[in-house]
Amino acid sequence: MSDVNVLYEGYSIMTDKDQMIANCSCILITGNQNVIVDTMTAWDSEKIITDFLFTALQKYNLTPDKIHYVVSTHGHSDHIGNNNLFLNAKHIVGYSVSFRDKYYMHSFDKGDLFEKYEDIEDPNVWLEAGSDDPVQQMRNRLKIAEAADWIVPGHGPKFQVTEQIRNSLHRQAGNAPV
Ligand SMILES: [Zn+2]
Repeated sequence: MSDVNVLYEGYSIMTDKDQMIANCSCILITGNQNVIVDTMTAWDSEKIITDFLFTALQKYNLTPDKIHYVVSTHGHSDHIGNNNLFLNAKHIVGYSVSFRDKYYMHSFDKGDLFEKYEDIEDPNVWLEAGSDDPVQQMRNRLKIAEAADWIVPGHGPKFQVTEQIRNSLHRQAGNAPV
């Protein structure tokens, strides 16, 4: 049985045409393997430690040294800033899986799969945030929406996956050039 906790809710807001403020959602998954997903910017260590101790320690008696995996969904600076708080964990950053200087070979897709709830109806939201492979990302968004009950996007509140959401993503994936 695993449990998903949003330690910090991310955001991304354009403040100017060439400037935005953004930070990622930081998520703790507890279970057989304890996982922390996306560790915010390097300036957020206190925030992470406070949120972590508040939730992990109080709810699960977990300390940072009991985290098995740190997952940075991609290499943006607001997703990797505090990986070094979890030094007993294997670190998965985008494509690479490592522990200390040892690297394990794997292949992963990279990028915020979902930026925020609004990007369901308006794909420009995630496209403009940057995608290495928009067609693949569109397919993967659908794949995840079909399998998941809830989605914690990179930069917004978690949301429940409804049939309407699945239908929208189906329509969009159907429109994607193959
Ligand atoms: Zn992001």
